[in-house]
Amino acid sequence: MMSKAIAAVKKIYGECGITDPLQLPIEVIINSKNIIIKEEEIDGAEGRILTKENSAIITLNSGLDFIPKKRFILAHELGHFELHRGLNRGFSDNDETLNHSSQPYFNEEEVEANEFAAEFLMPMELFFKECKGKVFSHKVIEHLAARFQVSKTAAILKFVKEDNGNHPVFVVCCQNNKMKWFKKSHDWLYYSQFNKGLAPPSGSVAYDVFKKGISYYGDEATQQIWKSDWFELRDDEPDSKFFEYCLFVPSLNYMISIIWEK
Ligand SMILES: [Zn+2]
Repeated sequence: MMSKAIAAVKKIYGECGITDPLQLPIEVIINSKNIIIKEEEIDGAEGRILTKENSAIITLNSGLDFIPKKRFILAHELGHFELHRGLNRGFSDNDETLNHSSQPYFNEEEVEANEFAAEFLMPMELFFKECKGKVFSHKVIEHLAARFQVSKTAAILKFVKEDNGNHPVFVVCCQNNKMKWFKKSHDWLYYSQFNKGLAPPSGSVAYDVFKKGISYYGDEATQQIWKSDWFELRDDEPDSKFFEYCLFVPSLNYMISIIWEK
């Protein structure tokens, strides 16, 4: 069944007569809904929305200069407007609420607003088309981020969510040197050493990022690791080469690792 968030995105696409998010600036779509966008300094938040009946004011933190992030916040607030304006309350968003995706969170409105934003900026059908049949590498994520004008983190989260015949991957999220959650493609075959609350295993790139303060960029961002760094080997199984790509968000001390086999 289609979720509320996805249905709300489809409705807006229909109303605006668009099939691709880049056909109309998101600001124009938001303004057409009787919503004013302002920028000012906000303490402790990146964006917020105040709704009054069928109109609203969205405020963006004027310190934001990364366009993909601005777009994500605007889409997130539009999601609150479309999905939650009946609640008659405002929403104040920071890096924490903007990263709430399914799994460990129970703040339903934030999860829904993020699902809305991800679908609004990266509609499923277009997203599939862009990743179909591609062998996974960090270049796929970079391509998706550029194609949809979103951050790499947003592209990764969508990539993992839309598990539909993509190259199988295993994704781990860590914060403050602790493993928080993992997600894997349906056809991922290996048994992981994931242990919620523990530090990532030594040998993994995630371990290096936290322990040694090393983070990698560009082509360096993909590191070769060994299967046994993250996964159990059968008794007589020789170790084999795997790859790990780590994306680190310093402001949250938060990291997403993608692991795959060539
Ligand atoms: Zn929110």
